[in-house]
Amino acid sequence: MRLVDTDDEAAFRATLRQWLRDNLPAGVPHSWDTEQRRAWSRRLHTAGYAGITWPREHGGRGLSPSYQAVYAEESALAGAPDHVNVIGIGMVGPTLIRLGSPEQQQAFLPRILSGEVIFSQGFSEPDAGSDLASVRTLARRHPDGWVLDGEKVWSSYAHLADYCLLLARTDEAPTRHRGLTCFLLDMRAPGVQVRPLRQMSGDTDFNQILLDSVVVPADAVLGEVGAGWRVAMTTLAHERGTFGITLTSRLAAELGRLVETVRAVGASDCPIVRREIAQLHIEVQALRYTGYRALTALERTGTPGPESSVLKLRWSLANQRLATLAVRVLDGRPGTDDWYGYWRRQLLRSRTNTIEGGTSEILRGIVAERVLGLPRSH
Ligand SMILES: Cc1cc2nc3c(=O)[nH]c(=O)nc-3n(C[C@H](O)[C@H](O)[C@H](O)COP(=O)(O)OP(=O)(O)OC[C@H]3O[C@@H](n4cnc5c(N)ncnc54)[C@H](O)[C@@H]3O)c2cc1C
Repeated sequence: MRLVDTDDEAAFRATLRQWLRDNLPAGVPHSWDTEQRRAWSRRLHTAGYAGITWPREHGGRGLSPSYQAVYAEESALAGAPDHVNVIGIGMVGPTLIRLGSPEQQQAFLPRILSGEVIFSQGFSEPDAGSDLASVRTLARRHPDGWVLDGEKVWSSYAHLADYCLLLARTDEAPTRHRGLTCFLLDMRAPGVQVRPLRQMSGDTDFNQILLDSVVVPADAVLGEVGAGWRVAMTTLAHERGTFGITLTSRLAAELGRLVETVRAVGASDCPIVRREIAQLHIEVQALRYTGYRALTALERTGTPGPESSVLKLRWSLANQRLATLAVRVLDGRPGTDDWYGYWRRQLLRSRTNTIEGGTSEILRGIVAERVLGLPRSH
């Protein structure tokens, strides 16, 4: 594991830092609306900061994950928002590169990078979240391809999405994983209905998708018919890939904001607050090094190792503790409205961290079985 930048990485970091200084408007980007996010995404793309690890022949920069990590660290430090096509660039694009047909790659990849085509991910259903193989959305053969019926839930960005990577059942196979297929669903096809779901933070960035006799062409199948489980697992593996570094970089930046808040309200000499901040600092450092270990494994093998499960589990808990501490410090102090609004929203949003992308219970099961080799629980 290397803890200092190579000369090339250091040059990339310096250029990016300057670019962020020159291009990121002053103010609070977390309050940006969708149009501002789209405009920011176009700028990222033009400057070559979208698809940093994608191969050059598909419009990326062909750089190793360590450059993506540098990008994550610098944009977190600068407080820059994500590219609006997080799912397209981080998950669907890499899946298309690995398993898509040349026609699909040509049709989608450039437009994913530019943000022209936004993707959502339609895997979860009301009775198929942790147990994804229980998917019941049905795809039946049709003279024009396939016809889809069913319901998806918790699909992030589906209200903005042009396409959805959708997992459906094409065969009632005896082995549940075998009868699934992935589709590139056009969200504007007749019969697709998107209903926003309001979260307790007030955000409406995830949705229910209803599918009523939606006809999709045969070339909308990604990978092979019946091999949708492999496609879905490829997508989910990419979610865990360099994501860990992004999460820990953001957590470090949040800790900086917490220290600022504590100073601003004059709570920095409280021994309890000091102890909790010190503990969070230690945790952030431990997560940083775990993130680097995950990155090293990814660079060596091309697939994320077990570190990414540990990272997601510990990050989500630390993020909740951090936001809880911030709100506690601010509670009842007059004149702190701006900070209070920010931290209250962060606290409410952080409640989802232990559910999205694999719940803490599921991750503990993975660590117990696949890392520690313990027997399956019943
Ligand atoms: C903010 C957010 C964004 C999301 N975005 C998307 C998206 O874009 N696309 C998408 O497809 N999905 C998305 N999801 C869905 C997410 O993947 C699921 O919520 C998650 O997998 C859990 O599934 P579930 O909600 O059905 O809960 P369930 O699987 O029903 O679990 C309920 C509870 O039982 C526990 N449990 C279940 N099985 C076990 C077990 N074997 N051992 C121990 N405990 C168990 C769980 O840990 C949990 O506490 C999102 C979720 C959130 C919160």
